[in-house]
Order: sequence, then structure tokens, then C-alpha cells
Amino acid sequence: MKYYSLNHNTPKVSFSEAVVRGLAPDKGLYFPESITPLDSEFIKNIERYSNEEIAFQAIRQFVGDEIAEQELRRIVAETINFDFPLVEVEKDVYSLELFHGPTLAFKDVGARFMARCLGAFSKFEQKKVTVLVATSGDTGGAVANGFLGVKGVDVVILYPSGKVSDIQEKQLTTLGQNISALEVKGTFDDCQRMVKTAFLDEEVNQVINLTSANSINVARWLPQMFYYFFAYKELKNKSKKVVFSVPSGNYGNICAGMVAAKLGLPIHHFVASTNANKVVPEYLQTGTYEPRESVATISNAMDVGDPSNFVRIQEIYGKQIENLKAHLTGYSFTDEQTRAVIKETKDQINYLLDPHGAVAYLGLKKELDLKSDFQGVFLETAHPCKFLDVMESITGEKVLIPEELASVMCLKKNSLRIDNQYEELKGFLTKKTQQIVV
Ligand SMILES: *Cc1c(COP(=O)(O)O)cnc(C)c1O
Repeated sequence: MKYYSLNHNTPKVSFSEAVVRGLAPDKGLYFPESITPLDSEFIKNIERYSNEEIAFQAIRQFVGDEIAEQELRRIVAETINFDFPLVEVEKDVYSLELFHGPTLAFKDVGARFMARCLGAFSKFEQKKVTVLVATSGDTGGAVANGFLGVKGVDVVILYPSGKVSDIQEKQLTTLGQNISALEVKGTFDDCQRMVKTAFLDEEVNQVINLTSANSINVARWLPQMFYYFFAYKELKNKSKKVVFSVPSGNYGNICAGMVAAKLGLPIHHFVASTNANKVVPEYLQTGTYEPRESVATISNAMDVGDPSNFVRIQEIYGKQIENLKAHLTGYSFTDEQTRAVIKETKDQINYLLDPHGAVAYLGLKKELDLKSDFQGVFLETAHPCKFLDVMESITGEKVLIPEELASVMCLKKNSLRIDNQYEELKGFLTKKTQQIVV
């Protein structure tokens, strides 16, 4: 499989090159050259197959022959070795719970898959790959955990000192092995600026293979399509049309769902549900795409003003807004609406939504009002305990912290404090490289 840049100003590359590079040299996102539908018999009989087999069949063409079948099967199995429950919360309304992975974040799947792909490639490479990420909270934990112990890959995570929650900080700083946490005396924006400078620094890139681990990377983006297959497999009534509502920030997750639909999975409609950051819902209404600064909300993983995967969505639907609108509706909800629905569902159906899942639930209900002959699935992307303060202020009750998270709180933090100056990061990266060369 080859990948082309959506800016069309650079040669096509292989899967491994697309993964190692992250972004194309012309700054475009990579996109697969073709998407070939799966055998319709396979989808018709999906209940007969294990999640591992389904995921393998779904991802296989996008990897091509660069990873041998047996190894790819192993990678897929390790990526998804936890539960993906589909819970019917009301008649014809399902919650797909994507928070049962090691860091209780849906980003676990993408991070685990990408890490293992890099590990597989590095067997043939002389140089190690260093994954460099700035995090404001959740992404860092999923990436750190996903890459833990993967041979040939080092991870360097920058986070703003004092600005991530205690749980999040522990998730980043207690792993050790190939994971280094740099605690930056500054803001998230400082961290992000330092990381971007490093990617553009030729001196650094000559000695060290740097890559990023956000959803622009095809190996983090594509495996998210597994969720849609797993949900469909679990639906009892497959003759009823299905709509998926996805809480969207950078639009990587929903865009992976659209790839699943291209592969032949019978998804009849998508809802992009979001908070006050509503560039995409507005685009669908007005036809004008106007990126802007993000605004802060209680569903903060979706506080994105210029979603990076939107260009991929446009590519999938041939850059035709009418075509896109036939498959996608966008809704935006306020924090007040989000708080109200969390309280309401807790009281009335005894189901605890996190702020992101709550936004997705709102979007789904709104769409089902218009589509009474449909059933719907909304994606629950994080465990409510990751937003303790918000949740407890809404429900007035303590949220139980699952054991996996509680145990990390007892471990000792291990981070290196640095100033918010690029030279400090550069010093760390180049010194590390010398250690590797020696
Ligand atoms: C990252 C994230 C999202 C948004 O996903 P995108 O793929 O960026 O649209 C939604 N919910 C949670 C909890 C997240 O961490």
C-alpha cells in the first residue's frame, strides 16, 4: 500500500515511511492510495469471527506486505487485548465503551498499534526512533503506556509543570524503561512550541529519527476503525439501520469510522458531536470552513479550533459538500447542556457519562429524533473518573477510581524538570543520542 500527501507536493511513500515520518515533507497528511471493500460475506457473518480476526482483516490492506502476516496478527492481538463493551442504555441507543484499555482512554488502541508497528520496522533500521510528544493530559498517558518496553523506540514526553492532573502526571512519570518525562516550567503551548521546533531542527534530525504520535500519523488514525466493526458485531438487530455519534476534536476517530464504511461496514450515517468548538458543524450548515482559536470547555479533549483530520474527511467524500452532508451531520452543545444530560442520564437511566460521551449522546439523541427508524451507537471515549472535579460537581457524588488508576498513584514520580527554552530540549535529545551511539 502506498500513501500520498493530501498536499500533492511530494512522492508517494510506503506504510512504514508514512508512519516514521508522520507528516509528509510538504506538510500534508498521508492518505491511502486505495480503499478496497472487504468481502461482503465476511461482513455478513461478522459474528462468527473473533475481534482479532476482524481487526486483522480490516487493517491488513493498509499495512500491505511490510509487516509479515504472523507479525501483524500478533501486533493486532496485543493492540486490542481488552474489552470493548457495547451497552444498551435505552432502547436502540448503545454506548460503545472505549475506556477499558490500560490508561482508560480510547487513544490506547491507536497508540498501542503505532508503537508496535514502529517496533517492527526498527528491526531493520540502524537508528532508533524517538517519539516526541507534548501533552496537556490524556494523549501523553496513552502514548507512554502504548510504547512502554517496545524495542527500538524511545519516547520523550513534555508536559507543563503543575498543569496536568495528579493522575495524569503519575501516568506519565512512573513508567521508566524507554519513557522519559520532561516537566517543563511553562505552559502546554510552550511544550508544543518546543516539540515543533525540534521537528524542524535539521541538526537534531541528522542524528536522531524523530516522529510524532498524534492522529495525523496513519498508524494512530487507522486502527480506530476497529471500534466500528466491534460495535456492529455486537448489535443484536442488524437489519435496522445504524447511525454512529462520535465526540470529535481532531476528527481522527470519526474519520476512521468513515474508512470502515468504505470497507463495506453498513453504517448509514455519522454524527460529529462537539462542544463550543464548532468549525465542522458550522461548515456543514454554511459551506464555509473557518478555523479559529479553540475555546476551553469541560469536554477538553475536544477543544480543537482547526481539526487536523478534516482534510481526510473531505478526501473520503470527494471534496463534495453535498456528498459529505448526505453521510454526516454535525451538532454542537454547550457545557450547560453537557452538565444537564450527565445529571439526567445518571438519575433516570443510571448510566454515568463522561463529558465527551455526554456530548456524543446528545448528538445521537438529536439525530434519532429525525431518524425514528434507526438505531444508534455513541462512542464513550474516556472513563468518567478522569474528570473527577467536573463529574463530582455535577452529580454531587464521588466517582469510583478503577484499580488500574488507583495503583499508579502509589508509584514514585520520575521526571526531569527543564526550563521552557528549546535549547534545553535539544540538549536532552542530542545527549541521549550520544548514549545510544556509544
Ligand atoms: C482525543 C479525544 C476525543 C477526540 O477524538 P478525535 O479523534 O481527536 O476527534 C474525544 N474524547 C476523548 C476523551 C479524547 O481523548
